[in-house]
Amino acid sequence: MKKIFSMLLILCLTFTAAGIAPGQARGEEAARPEAPEAGDVVYGFEAKEIRDYEPMGARITLFEHQKTGAQVTYIANNDLNRGFLMSFMTAAPDDKGLPHVFEHATMYGSEKYPSKTLFNTLLWQAYYTMMTAATSDLETSFPFTSMSEIQLLSIADYYVDCCLHPLFMTDESIFRTQGWHYEMESMDSPLTYNGVVYSEMQGITSIRQAAHFDSLKTAFPGSNVGNHYGGDPDCIPDLTWEEAIDFHNRYYHPSNSMTYLYGDFEDYTAFLKLLDDAFSPFERKDYSMDRHSGYTRNTAPVTRHFSYPVAADMDTENRSVIYYIIPCPGLRDDSAQQMLAKHVREMLKMSSSPMMKNLHNAFPSGVFEIDFTHNTPDDSIVFVAENVGEGDAELLRDIVDQTLRQIAEKGFDDELVESTSVRLRLEAGLERDRSNALEITENDANCGFVVRMCQIYAATGNPFFLTEYLESLERIPEENHEGLLARIVKDWLTEPASWTLTTTSPEPGGKEAHDAALAEKLAGIKAGMSEEDLQAIVEATHAVPEEADDSAMVRSLTPLTVDTLPEEIRKYDITDETGEDHVRRINVKADTEDIGKVYLLFDSQGLRNEDLIWLGLFSNLLGNLGTQIHTREEILSLRERYLMGNAFYCSLLDVSKEEGASYRLVAEWPSLDEGLEKSYELIGEILLDTRFDDVQTLKEIVSKRKSEVRSSCDNSAINLQLDRLAALDDKYENAHNYLYYLDFYDFLVQVEKQLADDPQPVIEKLTELQTCMANRNGAVAGFAGNEKSIALNRKASEALFGRMKDEEREHLNYHFPEPAKKEGIIIDSNIAYNAVGASCRQMGYERLNPWVEICLSVLTEQLVYPALREQMGAYSAYALEWGNFIILASYMDPNVAATFEFYETLPEKIRNLEITQEEMDPYIIYQYAYDTKPKGELSGAVSRIVNAITGTDPEKKLETLHGYKETTPQHLLELADMIEKLLAAGNRSTVGNAGMIRENAELYDVILNPFGE
Ligand SMILES: [Zn+2]
Repeated sequence: MKKIFSMLLILCLTFTAAGIAPGQARGEEAARPEAPEAGDVVYGFEAKEIRDYEPMGARITLFEHQKTGAQVTYIANNDLNRGFLMSFMTAAPDDKGLPHVFEHATMYGSEKYPSKTLFNTLLWQAYYTMMTAATSDLETSFPFTSMSEIQLLSIADYYVDCCLHPLFMTDESIFRTQGWHYEMESMDSPLTYNGVVYSEMQGITSIRQAAHFDSLKTAFPGSNVGNHYGGDPDCIPDLTWEEAIDFHNRYYHPSNSMTYLYGDFEDYTAFLKLLDDAFSPFERKDYSMDRHSGYTRNTAPVTRHFSYPVAADMDTENRSVIYYIIPCPGLRDDSAQQMLAKHVREMLKMSSSPMMKNLHNAFPSGVFEIDFTHNTPDDSIVFVAENVGEGDAELLRDIVDQTLRQIAEKGFDDELVESTSVRLRLEAGLERDRSNALEITENDANCGFVVRMCQIYAATGNPFFLTEYLESLERIPEENHEGLLARIVKDWLTEPASWTLTTTSPEPGGKEAHDAALAEKLAGIKAGMSEEDLQAIVEATHAVPEEADDSAMVRSLTPLTVDTLPEEIRKYDITDETGEDHVRRINVKADTEDIGKVYLLFDSQGLRNEDLIWLGLFSNLLGNLGTQIHTREEILSLRERYLMGNAFYCSLLDVSKEEGASYRLVAEWPSLDEGLEKSYELIGEILLDTRFDDVQTLKEIVSKRKSEVRSSCDNSAINLQLDRLAALDDKYENAHNYLYYLDFYDFLVQVEKQLADDPQPVIEKLTELQTCMANRNGAVAGFAGNEKSIALNRKASEALFGRMKDEEREHLNYHFPEPAKKEGIIIDSNIAYNAVGASCRQMGYERLNPWVEICLSVLTEQLVYPALREQMGAYSAYALEWGNFIILASYMDPNVAATFEFYETLPEKIRNLEITQEEMDPYIIYQYAYDTKPKGELSGAVSRIVNAITGTDPEKKLETLHGYKETTPQHLLELADMIEKLLAAGNRSTVGNAGMIRENAELYDVILNPFGE
């Protein structure tokens, strides 16, 4: 999968997982208040402006609170997954992470809801589809969504009170827990730092992030946009509680807020009433501050080099990050010019643009991003290159400048303009198909509509900027034709008065030096402390968190009851038949217009055990090499135009318990009806006519895949870990682990060697696979769309399968190596992930009943999360089902041995839990909301196709939902036994940095260092 980085870094309080099946929960039809008209005043809010935005089916009303000037944007459409988002414009004065620490601390209780544990309780007990908080450089936002309007209203009351009257202001312990504090095991132990944000930032601090702030500090000296709003772990311990209190007083005020209401409301006015009641006690304050007041513009180009500490044994080749920033002072004063510049950026970032082509040709291992930033003191175009060499900066700038000069002269070619237009129309169609309009992703460009609206408002001050911008995109072809885009490039991007070029490179051994310096600093602090102070730290380290009874507050905030939960799932019309040509055709009718999704699956029957891992590489190559008809560059452009950049990938499907899993070649893409036929022709050409004899490109792709697999292990260490653990006794997970992670990486290393020594066997192997896969026997042609699209699809797919042979071959049984029972895995990280787990079989059960899921929520919320996060400083912690495994896992954990010791205490603690049925019910309600989260119309339809292939009956889901309702407190005792058996099974895993793993070497059977030199 392609990874795209963004200029904006978003830090989330919690991470939310994807939903499973769509569902509907809707109250009875009551008399709805009239939609607002301009000039209406509703509970003290005046409707200032109303606009329709057709692509989202929305009428958008901008309200202003008459007393305080607080803004509310009400986006009314028919989405039942309604959302509420409150945001404050914030800025980081330094690198200590104030906005981020405050974002966390805000949610831990308020004057009206004085409970430090309530937010965590709601996370596991409320009926919501997303509930989180996030910090970006210019705003801090507090979004949540729910299928129930009444639930949304009660959580809104909690969120608003937390934002305006946080408990944090009078309770320093919240600051200490969430921000930073000292810890010490005993009087003889070393003094250490801990804290949720401190751990989180240690976990996510990366060279990419460091490079981001290095570049902004250089390009915009004195502006706070270069400050680390998440917090540099080296600076977080300089933060004081008093500073945090000042921060709240300064920014968390109604006059500095923008609140979004999104979706299909029975009574939107109830939310305005809530806000009016909350805002009215405040007096209006002036927030027309200049955010970039300390900024001094560079008057000449600046080139700088920064280093980023990594461990001594890390491979550092092509691991540098380069930023080339061209500021455009004054551009934002002319909104027409500004839109044109943004359109230029849309064109530049297409992978078929001359810019991307030239960059990829010059830096085959590079990953590139081109951004347009509003959040900087001057609008800027930013070129980012990752996975490049430390000496590459000048060459990068040369290539960018040369390409810009060519564009200034000739504009963009028609082919690229057409591709961009199609791409943008598809994106608009898919935006509406998104399951959650308030979704927050790491990459800001992928965030939901409402979140992007909020971010761009914070940067520009224009509440309608996003819709104006999206509407302007259709002008691109005309603008290019008239030479306006070329003109913008010429006027603003060629020969700029100043620019900055920054390189951030890994410094091997820097991490050890940094850790030693930190240890010395802490030893110095310890030496300067009194016996009494130290004793207090030891006591606090071992203190048991106080238990508070917040059940009355929980009841008031969770208005739904178990017996009123809807037991329904979204049903799709489906046809499923296998023709005489041995192609299985599955069509799912979706409520869409002129847009559909294709899901083709090619069987791997006949492939031998050792061939399967090759199939993964084969799928990565398809669409990235030339064919008999087109060059590689042409294929990349065509893919972008007709397949939205997609091509093939391999998917492991859990098709039968006996076989284990089946690894298939998949092509999946969204298409407008107008491009459907062409898209099939292209997919056929890629599968059947790709040439594998371009050795240079083969080498480049293999090397790039290698870095991507490595990054995915570093960045989603928890997935690597859970898959390896579950691979011990689950055929599906075993295959998944083998085909996607460390074994695949080792395989790529071998292929790379082989290509260097003698490429011929590699070419032969790939060609052999191509012949084998050009077989329609057992293939599946899935399609989701309306009736008209289905008919079009039928015709186009028949042409493709007509080109393929029809040969029945045997399905072979596959066997893959198993990981060790107790593993320590070294990765490039500051933090650890600690897990123990066991399969059903190992614990002596046949299957996991629905009650297990509910009891695991109780376990997580009541015991695991409070101890590991609130007390021991891990960013998060879970008890969860993974395949047929139950796993206890910590996420971004500063500890290793202590966490494993804590797991051992759980059975006893579970037995001591005293929970009534009334207290159990909210966990059931939460699980319902989780399992019935809506999916987009098309994505839901594609899941239905996959269900049909794997033989999963969607009605089974109803049984599970029903089973949840049967959960009783008695089941917790069974869970205690289960966890005891889990611990006895003795499987264990830590993924983390070399120091942590080696210090705890006795915990593991083997220690792997997959990326060491
Ligand atoms: Zn955070």
